[in-house]
Amino acid sequence: MKYISTRGQSPAKTFTEILLAGLAPDGGLYLPEEYPQVTRAELDAWRMLPYADLAYAVLSKFATDIPAADLKAIVARTYTAEVYNNGRADSDFTQITPLRTLSTGVHILELSNGPTLAFKDMAMQLLGNLFEYALDKQHQELNILGATSGDTGSAAEYAMRGKRGVRVFMLSPNGKMSAFQRAQMYSLQDENIHNIAINGMFDDAQDMVKAVSNDHAYKAAHKIGTVNSINWGRVSAQIVYYFKGYFAATQSNDEQVAFSVPSGNFGNICAGHIARMMGLPIGQLILATNENDVLDEFFRTGSYRPRGTNHTYQTSSPSMDISKASNFERFVYDLVGRDGEKVREFWNKVDAGGAFDIKGNDCWHELVKFKFSSGKSTHLDRLKTIRELWEEYGVMVDPHTADGLKVGLEQRRPGLPLICLETALPAKFEETIVEALGRKPERPETMAGIEDLPQKVEVMDADVMQLKAFISAHIPN
Ligand SMILES: *Cc1c(COP(=O)(O)O)cnc(C)c1O
Repeated sequence: MKYISTRGQSPAKTFTEILLAGLAPDGGLYLPEEYPQVTRAELDAWRMLPYADLAYAVLSKFATDIPAADLKAIVARTYTAEVYNNGRADSDFTQITPLRTLSTGVHILELSNGPTLAFKDMAMQLLGNLFEYALDKQHQELNILGATSGDTGSAAEYAMRGKRGVRVFMLSPNGKMSAFQRAQMYSLQDENIHNIAINGMFDDAQDMVKAVSNDHAYKAAHKIGTVNSINWGRVSAQIVYYFKGYFAATQSNDEQVAFSVPSGNFGNICAGHIARMMGLPIGQLILATNENDVLDEFFRTGSYRPRGTNHTYQTSSPSMDISKASNFERFVYDLVGRDGEKVREFWNKVDAGGAFDIKGNDCWHELVKFKFSSGKSTHLDRLKTIRELWEEYGVMVDPHTADGLKVGLEQRRPGLPLICLETALPAKFEETIVEALGRKPERPETMAGIEDLPQKVEVMDADVMQLKAFISAHIPN
């Protein structure tokens, strides 16, 4: 299996070759040359598999240049009940992603029982083990540089801590994250993890990362890499739980289901799109946004209008506060019949700060074949959903999952079982839970009092020179 770029002008590469890469050289995103197909016999055989075996079955179709025994061992090490053990007392840890049924045909797929209590652990933990494996083989090192406003940074740090050959330099806006989020990241004392709190906003931190990445000489000399949501390894790991959720919610492979996905950068739902393209019987993919509704607008009107960072709302589902959706190009490539030239034409406009509209294009009529629906959820919707779930079922959900539930219940096609993806645990977003319910969410025992642990963090002004000096000083020659 080789990987090609959505802009059609980069040489085809293997899974391991693109694992440590970001964008393709032509500025596009990598995708498989063609999606591997899953036969009915395979679906029947996969239905009973434990999570790690299922993950191996799915990922071996994509990571074809990793020897089977190696991939099997990596996956078995990644998806264990010991790693995904932070859930509630009534969770079944052996399932890794247990399905919680609310009422007939309405389910929540628990994806947030990993070390940082968000679904990003599902992919990032695999990436940590894959990176270590690939770097070992190539006798290489990698210095991961990133900016975070919360979930991604902590998931990356918990996945990379203690890994051979990997160092993490994670920028975060000083004083802008919750005390819990700060404690999660800054209390890590591992030698290979470096937290840098920037005196500024998230966008200032992001700009510093871009400035370093655009300095190609510095980047090469210091082996700088990223783990952002466009990483193909992350997307491929997310495909697995769509299969797992489907099997858990159905009796046979003749049934169809709907998935509802709280969306920001379109990474999570992109994995659902790919699962469907592989042959998983998904009848509907429901995309939920918060007030930052650029993707909902596209699926309703055919117009993709990224908002610009100064028109991004700060909401109570902050991990979905995006101005443009970095993985969306992957879907559009499929939508336009895998025509790299068409994608270049659209993204020339986007990259210049503009928009594109597919209404006047053939692919507008193709859109329906991809089974998407969409909707939007606001702060008041979020509070209402959290309250209703608590009162009716005694189930507490986080604000992002609430957005997914609200839009999922509104948009689902009658007759399809609905599987809402849980993207974080309520413990991560205490303030909004208190606003909705007047009580604090339960916190997993392992994280009781983490705010009181000693913290390791470097505070820095938004100064690229200073950042480079810090990185250089922390890489042994
Ligand atoms: C990252 C994140 C999302 C958005 O996922 P995308 O893959 O960017 O669409 C939603 N909810 C939570 C809690 C997240 O951390």
